[in-house]
Amino acid sequence: MKIMFQNPDTGETIYIEDEELLIRDIANKIMKEYNLEKPPIFFTLMKEDPVSETYLEEDDKLKTINEEKLDVKTPIWWRSSEIDLDLIYKLRTERYDRSGYELEKIGKTKVLIAGVGLLGADIAFDCAVLGIKDLTIIDYGSVDWFNIYRQSLYSKKDVFKSKVEVAKENLEDMGGVNVKSLKIEIPSFIYLPEDKSIIQNSILKIEPEVKKCDIIITALDTFSARMIMQTLALANDKILINTAAGLVGGVVQLVRIKQNDPCLACGIYFDRNQDVGACTLASFGTPKIISGITMEILTNLIEEREIKYNHFKYIPQTYQIEQSNFIKGKEFCDFCDREKGIIFKYKNGEKKALIDWLY
Ligand SMILES: [Zn+2]
Repeated sequence: MKIMFQNPDTGETIYIEDEELLIRDIANKIMKEYNLEKPPIFFTLMKEDPVSETYLEEDDKLKTINEEKLDVKTPIWWRSSEIDLDLIYKLRTERYDRSGYELEKIGKTKVLIAGVGLLGADIAFDCAVLGIKDLTIIDYGSVDWFNIYRQSLYSKKDVFKSKVEVAKENLEDMGGVNVKSLKIEIPSFIYLPEDKSIIQNSILKIEPEVKKCDIIITALDTFSARMIMQTLALANDKILINTAAGLVGGVVQLVRIKQNDPCLACGIYFDRNQDVGACTLASFGTPKIISGITMEILTNLIEEREIKYNHFKYIPQTYQIEQSNFIKGKEFCDFCDREKGIIFKYKNGEKKALIDWLY
């Protein structure tokens, strides 16, 4: 006769035929099968007490339990505080799967997130929850007392540690996701060492990661760092999703070269002395909304649905999201002009143009 063993939390089931075995033997078998470090606990319902669970001892024999068990249909349950990471992934994504998300496509998409602060930490977290299996994150910062709890990936015990390292650990702990972390300062006007080769080296480290990924998400403080990431993304034919938040709300902008979307520099005048972000001053809900819009765009891109708009602006005061489809103007853009733009020069091997622009 087969005795059914079941984990009520996960639905995993095994059948045992040999009634001479002890609970200890089943514990060993389950530990082996599910990679557990400690033996699980076992319980079932007995004839003498059918309303409350009876916990089983490791020396209990299956034959005896089977005779005293409520009935043949009642399984012996086991429960463990440990769980296999692949199983966590399965349980986490099961409902997305059922509601129609194409998990296989999502799992095959490689996403790079530049900046894992107020916006990027939420987005990285959401990507892992959704089932992105290959994430690359870039950030130079460390966790501080201001970041904890506001940035969903970090808590008190993480203060002073490198953000990318903590983020990697916490994300991978969620199961089913591999995270490559790069602690690199993305070049910007704020970080301009006199020795240009330092900038060149940073770019040399970032670019191969961009090449490996399908979609690049920027969640950075400064315009100039975004321009670096935008150039690397678009010169390598990648899709760019830029996110920003500030005092007056937040923005998500989609840049697809093939669709001729305007780039992040199109029609923008900026002052290089004021290249600082106000991301941390965003309203409480803004990062969540921006992350949510980003995730919708990301899944639409992955599942190849039409996206009618390339610019989304969230206004917290009125709870509105304004969608627009920006069209490239006729005026010259330093970055995306098809002949003289920095992106096209970079793509054609004239990489110096980008670094010269920074200086
Ligand atoms: Zn442009």
